[in-house]
Amino acid sequence: MKKLLLAASLVLFGMNLHAQQIKRCGSVEYLKNLDKKYPGFEHGVKSLQDYMNTIPQKKTRGQVYIPVVVHIVYKNATENLSDAYVTAQIDQLNKDYARLNSDTTNLRAEFKPIVGAANIRFVLQQIKRKQTTNADFPMEFDWLGNNAADDVKVSANGGDDAVSPNTTLNIWVCDISVTGGEILGYAYPPPGLPNWGAGANYPSQALDGVVIDYIAFGGASKLPVGYSSFGCKGRTAVHEVGHYLGLRHIWGDDDGACQGQTDYEDDGISDTPIQADASPFNCNKTINSCNQGTGDLKDMVENYMDYSSESCQNSFTKGQVSFMENVLATIRTSIHMPTGIADPNPDFGIQIFPNPASNNININLTSLDEKQASILISDATGKIVYKAVHNALNELITINTEYMQAGAYFVKIQTGSKNYNQTIIKQ
Ligand SMILES: [Zn+2]
Repeated sequence: MKKLLLAASLVLFGMNLHAQQIKRCGSVEYLKNLDKKYPGFEHGVKSLQDYMNTIPQKKTRGQVYIPVVVHIVYKNATENLSDAYVTAQIDQLNKDYARLNSDTTNLRAEFKPIVGAANIRFVLQQIKRKQTTNADFPMEFDWLGNNAADDVKVSANGGDDAVSPNTTLNIWVCDISVTGGEILGYAYPPPGLPNWGAGANYPSQALDGVVIDYIAFGGASKLPVGYSSFGCKGRTAVHEVGHYLGLRHIWGDDDGACQGQTDYEDDGISDTPIQADASPFNCNKTINSCNQGTGDLKDMVENYMDYSSESCQNSFTKGQVSFMENVLATIRTSIHMPTGIADPNPDFGIQIFPNPASNNININLTSLDEKQASILISDATGKIVYKAVHNALNELITINTEYMQAGAYFVKIQTGSKNYNQTIIKQ
């Protein structure tokens, strides 16, 4: 990865940048910092394919539901993003991972055989809010390699403690800072992946998860508040969750080398095109930085793990999908919805949270493409405890659950064309 200084992009992406250096993602900064401490560390990457062959491949994999807790850590009203940003972001993650995003039609024909959809769904469990007195969360490392931005994950340091990071994906939204520039997000990979090297993973499990700058958080239906001219469409989180599930940048973070050249590194995924360097925040579909001759593919600006503009990103490759699913089936095997606690409907478009609930539940219908939705909640004996018809367009409904006894309830949502069912737990 080259240090990204994009004179051209500054013009392209607008006036907010104040000649700042923009980094799409700070995940490799951590790796580079380790490299300073342990010279050669960064180039310890081994063949991921060899590794993949050693881990048990699950023959059939069902849908994996990842419970998500979002922490909004804000110092002012601008940073205190509304629930609508969160639900739009969850929708974007679900669409992009399931390859149900509408812009897959922009994918060049030559890449169609190599792209795939993941059996991974994200289920919003809780939105936590914490007002901080910290000015920001700086991406700065001390001599031990501790990242000061990780303070966002620690209540005692002005952040908000992770919720069950062994079973839940925690996403923190805050103002990340870096000297002379901007980092939109970062994440640590899980431990034990040779494509990252030992020690690249999270420093402790309490610090596991994804951090997104508030200016890049939200989905296509709720664009980020800051750099909308930069083309953010909620794909910073798609990219960072890719790191969280073990993926590296598509160009292998090798400072511009092609196969056979000194210092060449691969992302470890066999079907991603060989690419020398990051795409410079644009959608240039003519670049072919490493030409391998017959059958060669150009640089894949459509890939979520590139640094291309989010407006042209629309795909993971089959190899990347299979890799993430393997990570969930092996190293991150505890990151699943606990059986019996929830029964999330694969027809996402609807989110019900928090689950388990205490005083209320929220039902997000904002991305449901229907005019009306009837909601019925019944207890385990079938007794109806809530019944109402709602306008399903742009509606986030909060239902008081204080009066409900502790136990399991069934939420049934009926729209013109579909039925949605989910089990919730009242604590
Ligand atoms: Zn990255």
